[in-house]
Amino acid sequence: MPKITFLGAAGTVTGSKYLIEAEGKRLLVDCGLFEGSKELKQRNWERLAVDPATIDWVLLTHAHIDHTGYIPRLVRNGFHGPIYSNAATRELCTLLLPDSAHLQEEDARYAVKKGYSRHKPPLPLYTVAESQIALKQFREIPRADAFQISPQFSVLPHDAGHILGSSWLELTITENGKKTLVVFSGDVGRYDQPILKDPESPTHADILLCESTYGDRDHPTGSVADELADVINRTAKRGGAVVIPAFAVGRTQTLMYYLRELQEQQRIPALPTYVDSPMAIDVTGLYASHHEDHDEEFSREEEAGKRDPLNVHEVHMTRSVEDSKKINEVASPCIIISASGMITGGRILHHLARRLPDSRCSVLIVGYQAEGSGGRVLEDHAQFLRIHGEEVPVKAEIVELTQLSAHAGRSELVRWLAGFQAPPRQTFLTHGEPSGLNGLRDAIAAQYHWPGVTIPDYLQSFDLSVP
Ligand SMILES: [Zn+2]
Repeated sequence: MPKITFLGAAGTVTGSKYLIEAEGKRLLVDCGLFEGSKELKQRNWERLAVDPATIDWVLLTHAHIDHTGYIPRLVRNGFHGPIYSNAATRELCTLLLPDSAHLQEEDARYAVKKGYSRHKPPLPLYTVAESQIALKQFREIPRADAFQISPQFSVLPHDAGHILGSSWLELTITENGKKTLVVFSGDVGRYDQPILKDPESPTHADILLCESTYGDRDHPTGSVADELADVINRTAKRGGAVVIPAFAVGRTQTLMYYLRELQEQQRIPALPTYVDSPMAIDVTGLYASHHEDHDEEFSREEEAGKRDPLNVHEVHMTRSVEDSKKINEVASPCIIISASGMITGGRILHHLARRLPDSRCSVLIVGYQAEGSGGRVLEDHAQFLRIHGEEVPVKAEIVELTQLSAHAGRSELVRWLAGFQAPPRQTFLTHGEPSGLNGLRDAIAAQYHWPGVTIPDYLQSFDLSVP
């Protein structure tokens, strides 16, 4: 009988890994890193519940590290099969996985320097070289056509509208001639957002796995453009800088799109804009080149050829550390976009160390901030933020603009589920903290009255065969 085991994203938002077994074959859908609290990160070091050498294939929904960042570790520990993804996801992974490895190596070096570590000498979870080896196992599958993995498994991807290349997957499992259709939501994106197409809706499934990141709440309905214009104008008037911690993939490009539009409409001054993240610069190039992901409006703007829709008037892309540090000297109003998006590391830390104590400046929180992250500390109106071992006073204006989230809010998830012509036999809610999971379960009960909605536990297994 086909079986599923939840190796991650069960009761939490990170570590997405779903093991599917049929006729003795093993397929791992997504292979994400646990992120956030120490307890969660510790799981990345534990022995996987199944020997990686016995997994036959990996299949990916999209490139985010909480869906792909465990791949180099899986390969290092014996997985030698193909890793299936579409072209955009593979290209993003060629940037994201070595970057993740680099961060792991830096953490290990830092642990050596500070003299703390569980390992002696401190080791990275995987190295840049190991991430390069893993990338060789990637195989591209079609963006939107069926692909046969084996006699047991075939997959049909659909647009998820979350980030470049993001898909939700229809997986058909065949065992002893019986077929079971499993839908994996991956991460569901937003409707009516710039650049990317809207999420398509599934219409049928025997088994559904649905993410619940924002299962308990909706994003504010206010216009992103209006609010962005307001905060930029009042910060510029004060003579301050607008600092935006943003993930390199997705948020940065959406921000650039809005900023360019607002400048063109002369609703904000043409401020110098610093994109201080080598990764964001590379990813922006990929966003521009993958036309198959672009919605109609974006394609029209590109075809008009008048302008580059992802470039503001005065944009400075900074790759080198020296150029990055020079941004500290900019005293006039400006916009700084830098990673990491949850303020857990990266160049954003030195920008915040410089700008947070300055009451003229603003910090814009534009995405989900996990428990324990620096972004969550700012959201919670803390007086100080600890950066590089120092308590930095928070005097800058903190503005939340979660409309810019790449994740569907509660009612968008409900809308995404509206396409089902009949309830799935079994629905598993994943990829959420408890409030998100319970929130979506209640919403599904209120709206659709589906039977069999389950919130699985970490490492729990379920038989997927027809009862
Ligand atoms: Zn994602």
